[in-house]
Amino acid sequence: MRMSRMYMPTLKEVPSEAEIPSHQLLLRAGMIRQLVSGIYSYLPLGYRVIRKVEEIVREEMDKAGAQELLMSAIQPKELWEATGRWDDFGPEMWKLKDRHEREFCLGPTHEEYFTNLIKNEVKSYKQLPLNLYQIQTKYRDEKRPRFGMMRSREFIMKDAYSFDTDSQKMRESYDIMWEAYAKIFKRLGLNFRVVEGDTGTMGGKISHEFMAMSDAGEGMIAYCDSCDYAATDEKAQVVYVNNQEDAELLEMEKVNTPGVTTIDGLEEFFEIDKSRFGKVIVYNLNGEAIVVMIPGDRELNETKLFNHLGVAEHDIEMADEDMIMVISGAEKGYTGPINLKEGTRLLVDSRIAKMKNLIVGANETDYHIKNVNYGRDFEGELVDDLLMVIEGDTCPKCGDVLKMARGIEVGNIFQLGTKYSEGLNAKFLDENGKERVFYMGSYGIGITRSVAAIVEQYHDDKGIIWPLNTAPYHVIITVINSKNQEQVELGEKLYKKLLESGVEVLLDDRKERAGVKFNDRDLIGIPIRITVGKRAPESIVEYSLRASDDKEEYHVDEIMDLIKEEFQKYGLSLK
Ligand code: ATP
Ligand code: MG
Repeated sequence: MRMSRMYMPTLKEVPSEAEIPSHQLLLRAGMIRQLVSGIYSYLPLGYRVIRKVEEIVREEMDKAGAQELLMSAIQPKELWEATGRWDDFGPEMWKLKDRHEREFCLGPTHEEYFTNLIKNEVKSYKQLPLNLYQIQTKYRDEKRPRFGMMRSREFIMKDAYSFDTDSQKMRESYDIMWEAYAKIFKRLGLNFRVVEGDTGTMGGKISHEFMAMSDAGEGMIAYCDSCDYAATDEKAQVVYVNNQEDAELLEMEKVNTPGVTTIDGLEEFFEIDKSRFGKVIVYNLNGEAIVVMIPGDRELNETKLFNHLGVAEHDIEMADEDMIMVISGAEKGYTGPINLKEGTRLLVDSRIAKMKNLIVGANETDYHIKNVNYGRDFEGELVDDLLMVIEGDTCPKCGDVLKMARGIEVGNIFQLGTKYSEGLNAKFLDENGKERVFYMGSYGIGITRSVAAIVEQYHDDKGIIWPLNTAPYHVIITVINSKNQEQVELGEKLYKKLLESGVEVLLDDRKERAGVKFNDRDLIGIPIRITVGKRAPESIVEYSLRASDDKEEYHVDEIMDLIKEEFQKYGLSLK
């Protein structure tokens, strides 16, 4: 491609709306453009990268025995009602109506649709296992679309669905996908970790997330260096020990604490460590107050709470002052477990039951109570673990210390079980001619998010540094002086030769200053760079890689071998 003809609207300034490097660089390099919040156009350079990522995904999915097809983005409401997800999915789902007032959604994912597709078509166990996938555009009206392609409202996903006869076979299909994903993200050059994930509204019990490690990631991971334990912060099991088995139970005592409504304030007032307090948070679930109590030195894990309650995030909110007054008879900040309004639901983290002589709110404005003990003074619904993991927690698997890191969720695999096949009544006949529902798995890869993740891991202050196998072009030839005939001719000659060998090559034949050309070349991140300059009359050019500072001069006849060497590193071949 001749750069003089290319649609590549690069920007000199960092766009103000872009906060993280991948968003800034993809905009600046003229690879994407925003239409409205969270909706992007993929411009020629950006779209080439997307297609390369898709191709790697496709190759590994095909090798793993999955078959590609393409479904519609539009899905009828009835399919989603059958599994209860029309409501469960909440405001993230884009809904629309046709001219007959029939309701549809723009698919945020396709479990129902795939289950419905194979239902009645796959009739026998002999047709199983089956794994079908597509690479297709998804729609989610995200609460906080941001970071460009990282969290957008329209994005490209590879989604696959496996169908098996039983749970053992489902796990085998799952393992095959796990392996395929590991190969895909390795080929994409991503530094990643596989972590246990929460299944949320997807259903099933087991899921794993493939996390590209990056400080720009929205996901937090707890991991252990001594064993292979790794989980998202939503999922990570918290080992919390605060037992005082032999402490004597003291008499309860009401203490006047005017204006002290926070744990920090209480710590200062009582001059006692936060861990001696019972922290209470009140939620409003469709008009019902839910009081949650955890140790004062920890944060509540809302995912664990919502899972316990069996509700989605959009069904529940923090209680307001009025609701708190109704159930506690006190202002916010003084709620406690004793003397709550009759019938109020109180969820208690199980560790509270082992703590002695706690300080809690008195359910009376300006008062707290000392020496409160679970069992003696109050009881509630004990929940195993409602806590958010923190750095330094004990590893639940080996007992060593957990570390925390940020990651970008690029892939997610789920063992779904029978949620969808039961909901949609999708059955096959087993060896004994008996009707059974399918065991399913579902497997997503964010194609566009993966592109952003690559940029997060491969860039410097000048621009993107594409790995060769996902670069929009392999090679860029920069002609320093486009008024110099010899330089132009040598550039053209090399350009032709590389094209003939199957190299994807950009020729910077623009009538721009050399500095502009160099800046653009660094910004768009083409991995192999050839500079045609003063020594053109001797057929000498400069060869360098975007990823390194080394440059060297070579005779043009040597260039092909150098490129071949780079290609081999990525398993790519030339014509
Ligand atoms: P997240 O927790 O980041 O919202 P998710 O759990 O909702 O992700 P899945 O439903 O598992 O995501 O979707 C499969 C994959 O699609 C994700 O692993 C991610 O790579 C990608 N993806 C999900 N939401 C978005 C989005 N808004 N923009 C871009 N990619 C996305
Ligand atoms: Mg999401």
